[in-house]
Amino acid sequence: MCPVKKAQIDLLGTVKTIVLSTAAISASFAVPPSAQAQSSDGQIYVEYQFAQTARYQDMSADLQYREIFEAYADSMTQLFNLPRDIIVSFQECGFSNAYYKPETSEITICYELLDQVRMDFLYSNVVTAEDSPEYAISAGIFIFLHELGHALIHDFNLPVLGQEEDAADQIATTFLSFGGKDSLGIAWAAAFDLLITSEYESVLPSSTDEHSSAQERFYNIACLSYGSNPSEYTDIPEEILPESQKPRCIERSQQVSQAVLQLIQPHVRLQQDGIMGFQ
Ligand SMILES: [Zn+2]
Repeated sequence: MCPVKKAQIDLLGTVKTIVLSTAAISASFAVPPSAQAQSSDGQIYVEYQFAQTARYQDMSADLQYREIFEAYADSMTQLFNLPRDIIVSFQECGFSNAYYKPETSEITICYELLDQVRMDFLYSNVVTAEDSPEYAISAGIFIFLHELGHALIHDFNLPVLGQEEDAADQIATTFLSFGGKDSLGIAWAAAFDLLITSEYESVLPSSTDEHSSAQERFYNIACLSYGSNPSEYTDIPEEILPESQKPRCIERSQQVSQAVLQLIQPHVRLQQDGIMGFQ
């Protein structure tokens, strides 16, 4: 891994102040009590497969103890009329990745990926070893919501203009924007990790990766996060989001959230209270 440059470290330090703790974030995403009485069809289940490697066993035990992903899975199950079950499976894969398989309706999140994200934060030198797991879990929640975006696109047969990978990022960021500044901290954590990885992305050989570059994904997520809640981010530095781009980000966020809401509306349970009570 290439060291993060000095200028980038300063920038990451600024981003760090924007990211909030996962405890505050997960509390903001609770489903209103009226929703919990509703029955559901398809459900989202979280499972943890046995890991051979000791540190992944520790990670698995920690995730199971915290039940953060279970809380998000339950919220999404309550929110949507899902046509079938979706399994979110944490596994030791032998490689670092997360992906969705429509054939089995399964989202796989490799322990290796969460560990890599933790190391990204750790080696950025702006997050302490103690804090890095919290940042990794925040980014991991975004990864889960991104993969869920793929699942919803498939199961709801949602039309996609442009790259599906960008659409999945837009769906994840829009969901988080429903929770306001607190849950948007998760989107900022993911953006923060992409900013770090963009530092060494350019030295890797070109690949067939369907994702936009880490730099592009960072900018797009940051732009939508800012645009959805501009009054909360008045002090966002020029290096992260140039002043000239801010009006465009507000306009873009409105456009994207309107598109996401319109597309998912027919599949949402809580018509009367608005989506998750946040509208
Ligand atoms: Zn994807």
